[in-house]
Amino acid sequence: MSQQEGGRARSGLYLNPVGQRRLDFQQACGALFDGLRVAGGIEEAAALLDAQAPGVLVIDLERFEPEIDLPALGELVAKRCGAPVLALCPFTNARWLPALMAYGPLDYVIVPLGLDALADELAARLDAGFAPVHAPTPVEEDLAALLAVRSSAQQALLEADDAIRFGERLCAALLTWPGVVHAAMFQLCEGKDLRLEAQCGQQLAQAGARGLDLAALLGRGERLLQSPLRHAFPGLLAAAGGETALLDAPEKAGEAALAEALHAHGVAMVVGLPIPASGPGAPRGSLSLMFGARHTFSRAQLAAFDDLAQLAAFGLRTAELMRESEALLGRVTQLATLDALTGVANRRHGEFLMEQEIKRARRYRVPLALIAFDIDRFRNINDSFGHPVGDVALRTVADTARALLRSSDVLVRSGGEEFQVIAPHTSAIDGLKMAEKLRAAIEATEIPGCDHVTISLGVAQLGETESGDSLAVRVNAALARAKRAGRNCVELAMG
Ligand code: GH3
Ligand code: MG
Ligand code: MG
Repeated sequence: MSQQEGGRARSGLYLNPVGQRRLDFQQACGALFDGLRVAGGIEEAAALLDAQAPGVLVIDLERFEPEIDLPALGELVAKRCGAPVLALCPFTNARWLPALMAYGPLDYVIVPLGLDALADELAARLDAGFAPVHAPTPVEEDLAALLAVRSSAQQALLEADDAIRFGERLCAALLTWPGVVHAAMFQLCEGKDLRLEAQCGQQLAQAGARGLDLAALLGRGERLLQSPLRHAFPGLLAAAGGETALLDAPEKAGEAALAEALHAHGVAMVVGLPIPASGPGAPRGSLSLMFGARHTFSRAQLAAFDDLAQLAAFGLRTAELMRESEALLGRVTQLATLDALTGVANRRHGEFLMEQEIKRARRYRVPLALIAFDIDRFRNINDSFGHPVGDVALRTVADTARALLRSSDVLVRSGGEEFQVIAPHTSAIDGLKMAEKLRAAIEATEIPGCDHVTISLGVAQLGETESGDSLAVRVNAALARAKRAGRNCVELAMG
C-alpha cells in the first residue's frame, strides 16, 4: 500500500507529557508511521510542527489540564500545519472535545484503551484517510454561528430570576447573530400593555449614528399596543398578532416616517418574533431583530428564530414564577411574624428578636431594656362595650405605643392584652422614662367607643449573664407589682 496519504508522507507527531506513555505509544503504534516524532510539551510540539509538517498530529490529553493547557493546545489544533488532528480524550473529561473543536476540526478516540486497540483505531483511520481538513463551508459557518447564538442565549437563562436582566442578556446574545445590529425584547404586562423590556444595539459605524434607541423610534416605551406603528413595526405586530413578521425592506410596511428612520439608522431589515404564552391566547411578548443588510434566511435559521422565541418564553415564565414566589414568601413571612389584629410582632417572632438583641447587646456591651405592659381591667371593657370595641382598644393601644417608639425598638404582642417593648441601647433608667411616657400617652389617648384605658408596666435591664427567660420572669414580676400597687403605674424589676 502506498505510504503517501493526500500527497503527504504518513508521518506522525505524538504529544503527551508522560515519558512512559510516549514510549508505550511509540512501541504500539510506531510501526504504523513512516516516521513518528514525539513531544513531551506543547511548545516542543509546536516547534516540531514548524520544522516539518506531520501526516497526523496525535494529541494525547491524558494528564493535560483544561484550565491550564486549553489555550496552548487549542493553538496547536489551529496551527496543525495542514495535518489532521486526532485527540485521545480521557472518558472522564469529554469537555475537552467541544473546547478543542472550537479551534479547528479534529477526530477523537476515547481512552483508556488497550494499546493494541488503540493501534487498530489508528490504523483504521490511516487506511481510510482522515477527513480532509478544509475551510468550513458557508453552511457550516452559518450553523456554527447559530449554535453560538443559542448557547449564549441559554446563558441568559441564568439571569432569569429577573425579566429585565434576562432580557438584557438575551438581547446581547441575539446581537451576536450575524448581521444583527439591534435586538430588543417586548413583554406584555397585565394592565400595562406591551412594554419595551430590554434592547441592545451595536454602535453603527455610520457618521454620527448613535446606538439606535427603539423607544425613541417608536415614540414610546410603554403602552405599545396603542402605538400608531403597531400595524407596521414587526416587533409590535408579532406581539399583537402572534405571527412572525419579516420586513425585508423598511418601505414595505407602508409607513414612510418609519422607513426613513430605519434607513437613517442603517437598518435594512427587521424581524419580529412572537414569544409564545404558556397556554392558548395572546403571546407573552416579542423579540425584535434588526439587520444592517437584507438577508434571505435558510430553513435552519428560521427554525432557530422559533427556538430563540421559545427560550425567551421560558426565561420570562421563570422570571414570573420567581416574582410570584418572592411575593408569596413575603406574605407568608408577614403572616408568620406579625400579629393579625394589631400588626405588631407576634410572641414567637418577639422571642426570636429578643434573642438577637441579647446577642447584640453582649457583643457590643451595650445595655438592653425590656418593658412589659398590660391593659388594666380589660375584661371590663369587653364586658361593658363588647368584644369588637375591645379589639379597637387593643389596636389603638398598639398604635399609640408604636408611634412613641424609636425605629430600633420592637413592639411585641406577647399575649391577649399584654405587650412588650424590646429596647436596644437602653438602660433601666432610660427604660423607666420610656415606660412612663408610654403610660401617660395611653392614658391620654381616646379610644373610640369606650373613652380611655390605662396600662400597668414593668421595666427590667438585661443582666450581664442573664438569659432572655430570666429577664422575662423579672419584668413580669415587676408588672405584677405595678398591678398590686393600684395599676396605671410603672415598676422597676429587682436585679
Ligand atoms: P388586669 O388589670 O388585672 O390586667 O385586669 P384584666 O381584666 O385586664 O385581666 P385579665 O388578664 O383577667 O383579662 C384579660 C382580658 O383580655 C380577657 C380577655 O377577654 C381579653 N382579651 C384577650 N385577648 C383579646 C382580644 O384579642 N380581643 C379582645 N377584645 N379581648 C381580649
Ligand atoms: Mg389586663
Ligand atoms: Mg392580662
